Amino acid sequence: MKAFLKASVLLTIFVVGGTLRAQNSQMVKGADDRFKADILVVVAHPDDEAFFTPYAARAINDMHKRVAVVFSTRGGSGVNRFSRERGPAMANEREIEAREACAKLGIANVWFLDGKDTASQNVLDSLASWGHGANLERLVGLIRLTRPDVIFTHFPGIFIGENHGDHQATGVLVTEAFDLAANPTVFPSQLAGDTQHYELYLSNLQPWQPKKIYFGSDANDGKQFEGSGPTYSVREVSPTQKKPYWRLALEAAMSHRTQSRMSDEQWEEMMSDPKTSWWPEPSTLIFGKSVVDGKATDDVFAHIDEKPDRSFTKETVSCGAHGEEGTGNEKLPRIGLGGVWLFYEEFYPAHGLCQLRVAKMPEIGVKSGATLVVPLAIRHDSSKPLPVNLAVKAPEGWRVTDGAGQYVLPAEESTSVAVHIETPTLSAEELKKAVSQELHISAEAGGKPAGEVRLRVLLKASALPQ
Ligand SMILES: [Zn+2]
Repeated sequence: MKAFLKASVLLTIFVVGGTLRAQNSQMVKGADDRFKADILVVVAHPDDEAFFTPYAARAINDMHKRVAVVFSTRGGSGVNRFSRERGPAMANEREIEAREACAKLGIANVWFLDGKDTASQNVLDSLASWGHGANLERLVGLIRLTRPDVIFTHFPGIFIGENHGDHQATGVLVTEAFDLAANPTVFPSQLAGDTQHYELYLSNLQPWQPKKIYFGSDANDGKQFEGSGPTYSVREVSPTQKKPYWRLALEAAMSHRTQSRMSDEQWEEMMSDPKTSWWPEPSTLIFGKSVVDGKATDDVFAHIDEKPDRSFTKETVSCGAHGEEGTGNEKLPRIGLGGVWLFYEEFYPAHGLCQLRVAKMPEIGVKSGATLVVPLAIRHDSSKPLPVNLAVKAPEGWRVTDGAGQYVLPAEESTSVAVHIETPTLSAEELKKAVSQELHISAEAGGKPAGEVRLRVLLKASALPQ
């Protein structure tokens, strides 16, 4: 209505001016401001928004920022702790719980990608089960619609902790979308103008470059991320809401009834104690990357109005590989961790995640008694088959069931093999005291050493399958 009035006023002025320009002057509609977000939170499951809700409560209530949330799955594979429904029915319930939790914080713009809740620690499993490409396209479309300055998401990496493949896959999708959304040649149908009155396919969006990404991690050892990004207080009292930010976040989280076996009082008790609360005081947002100036520890919105200094036309930032492996210059043959570890070794430099704090030594937590699978990649001369010997040094009581000994590798640049190790079943008492243990796998080719792989493994009472 307002736009219509404005148009009439313009028209009158031009007619009075006695020109014919009035007929040519049309108001062109801009992007819908109702859907603009300052912060876009992209998380895997309903309830994962809680990684960031104390900050969101502050941003919405006391910084006048707009927050929108995207969930990559509707959470159908977890346990229902509240009622009978499971699987797809529980996913329907969890979608409503998520919308209610967000609404309590003042977040109305909530979307869901099409990922299936995939119970595994393997990021590549999640990406495959979701349909990596289709969901990346959806996410890029939502970034172009919401035009966020800042995105908060899960840490794409492997740590001893919950280490959910869906969390990691969400961090991977966001990192990719961050690098793609400003490129007009990527998913161009999203940018094309409508061609017919009842447009079905073309979105008429515009390219968009978010400025910064921050990560939240579910690693057991949260201390390793101290100093890796800006910190904020979760215990501070909101001047407008007269409650601490952690409490606003908790009140929202209470909507996730299917995920909680505790009473409201038990929640209250747990979260009000800084020692048992989900959110440490202060909390750290782990800096991922930025296309504006400033340091990793700067405030989230520092330099946010600057023009991005990296356009899609520039080559991907290269920041060198993490660790010894993968530089491409070392002597071959060479053994390294394969599978998901190899994926991340290539993913970080490819996406300019140069400052990311990865685990000092590769690590993983598995269920005590489960078979640990260690994927390996051996790079070698591709001109001829290569005889290799693998020696595995496992902790006492662990049993190597497959993968050690002699191999002849085919004539190719990189060959994947895997070592299988049966882990001991520990008692509840032993599990309480369990600390991570180191595993060594060394390779020998033609009587000469060809590198060594080390992996830190924690046996846990429960863990998602590898
Ligand atoms: Zn989750």
